[in-house]
Amino acid sequence: MCGEKPDQRLCVDHNHTTNAIRDLICTNCNHALGKAKEDPAILRAMAEYLERHAQRDPAEVKYAPVPSAPSLQREMGHTLNESVDRRTTHSEE
Ligand SMILES: [Zn+2]
Repeated sequence: MCGEKPDQRLCVDHNHTTNAIRDLICTNCNHALGKAKEDPAILRAMAEYLERHAQRDPAEVKYAPVPSAPSLQREMGHTLNESVDRRTTHSEE
């Protein structure tokens, strides 16, 4: 996840809600997920926070919306509608 080659062994990451094994990740990433309560919203907010404060000119700091989130939702909705259309077409045959 962090792109670094781990010098320690990888952790088997679990989804603590379902107990399903997710993936092998390094210890740092595993701890980072745990500290953020494995909440994507918190992790996103943290990323935004860092990016906001990484700006050189404080006047440029703005609470800009994350462009990827709404477009992703639109894509997902589009895919969903397509599969519904296909099912409808199939049942009419
Ligand atoms: Zn890592």
